[in-house]
Amino acid sequence: MTTTLPSYDDVVARYEPVIGLETHVELGTRTKMFCGCRTDFGGEPNTRVCPVCLGLPGSLPVVNKAAVEATIRIGLALNCSIADWCRFARKNYFYPDMPKNFQISQYDEPICVDGYLDVEVNGETVRIGIERVHMEEDTGKTLHVGGATGRIHGATESLVDYNRAGIPLVEIVTKPIPGTGSLAPDIARAYVNELREVIRSLGVSDVRMEEGSLRCDVNTSLNLPGQEWGTRTETKNVNSLRSVERAVRSEMLRQASVLDAGGRITQETRHFHEDTGDTTPGRSKETATDYRYFPEPDLVPIAPDRAWVAELKAALPELPRVHRRRLQEQWGLSDLDMQSVLNAGAVELIEQTVAAGATPAAARKWWLGELSRRANETGVELVDVGATPEQVAELQGLVDAGKLNDKLARTVLEGVVAGEGSPTEIMTSRNLEVVSDTGALTAAVDEAIAANPEIADKIRSGKVAAAGALVGAVMKTTRGQADAKTVRELILARLNVEA
Ligand SMILES: [Zn+2]
Repeated sequence: MTTTLPSYDDVVARYEPVIGLETHVELGTRTKMFCGCRTDFGGEPNTRVCPVCLGLPGSLPVVNKAAVEATIRIGLALNCSIADWCRFARKNYFYPDMPKNFQISQYDEPICVDGYLDVEVNGETVRIGIERVHMEEDTGKTLHVGGATGRIHGATESLVDYNRAGIPLVEIVTKPIPGTGSLAPDIARAYVNELREVIRSLGVSDVRMEEGSLRCDVNTSLNLPGQEWGTRTETKNVNSLRSVERAVRSEMLRQASVLDAGGRITQETRHFHEDTGDTTPGRSKETATDYRYFPEPDLVPIAPDRAWVAELKAALPELPRVHRRRLQEQWGLSDLDMQSVLNAGAVELIEQTVAAGATPAAARKWWLGELSRRANETGVELVDVGATPEQVAELQGLVDAGKLNDKLARTVLEGVVAGEGSPTEIMTSRNLEVVSDTGALTAAVDEAIAANPEIADKIRSGKVAAAGALVGAVMKTTRGQADAKTVRELILARLNVEA
């Protein structure tokens, strides 16, 4: 079926969106949620498993205290109430990546409830309600082989890796977010970004969307103004900030076209496709009764000691938003400039580059300029682009010392990103240092003057601006490795002209 989608402006003029976000965060604990297996990413398949996380008969789970502590800290940072008493529940369903045939999760008795997170969109603060933060365990990973898309459709066989089964997960669920109008996609993105900053500041997860340690499901519905909220769909596993925004937008457009044609929205999960930016239907959404939740009989309830919770609260780090406001003042940036630093994922990187000795302006220039461009081109996050804050500070130090000009510094940075070494090492090994030996420069200047007598005459007669052409000639013979200002001074001195 091909339908022409209405325009986005048209959709938001006629419909009101309601969004909601469910985010799964893999905790960076050393061991799994209910057993002592290691959790680090990238082990040989099925080597980090034991009878508990494989669900073998007779094995019993034991709760990981570090995971409970991390979850409470997340809840506190999101202004939630911490339950005096809570329980785990079994969520029953069959799937090959889940060896027990149930997932230990929390259902009607979560550990953290009723909080909020303030996010900034276009200079306005939007308060997003947090319904709950609860603990659960991750499933294993299935790899479908033989098909073109990596999905089960068309695959000839499937392999399962249980290393991830039982890794502690925290699920953070927002309350429904109405009233966002045309800003729904931006608010969804800003929320996930801010949530990621908060969790990163707590040091409880590396929150890498591309490695799946932060995964996001986006709920979207549309209703006519003044009418009840519409049926929502849930777009699964949207794995970049940009995709969060695109998933909301594309689902709004799709639902509007269905409603415009007199159709009904089906409650279902949908898959987001990075390549096209579209969603396609998944399974029709289960209701809670399908999962036959019941209290987990193998685990005792959790009753966090109030003094411990108070201690954790008192020890929370400065929240990223407050921290950013302080940095913004120190760096002398406008709200808009600070927003672009945040959007680029560069706050911490710039902060560390400044700590390593660069000025805020220089640090921002490299991270938002050359390095952001490179990160976009290669599709990695800025933090993974291949340069460290210390290297960027060192590079800027070489510029400040007159050893590199801007163009040479960019070449050196390319080498840094390619893993060739430190900026100083690359400058030396590739012989990129600015020519500061005035003897060699004077020779190049004299050569340029001799080759361009008419220009030299112009300069002698007072047309100092004509020196630019000679500067260009010298830069060419020195392969861009001279300092343009020094060259200009030399030319004027050789021609006995006052600058
Ligand atoms: Zn295990």
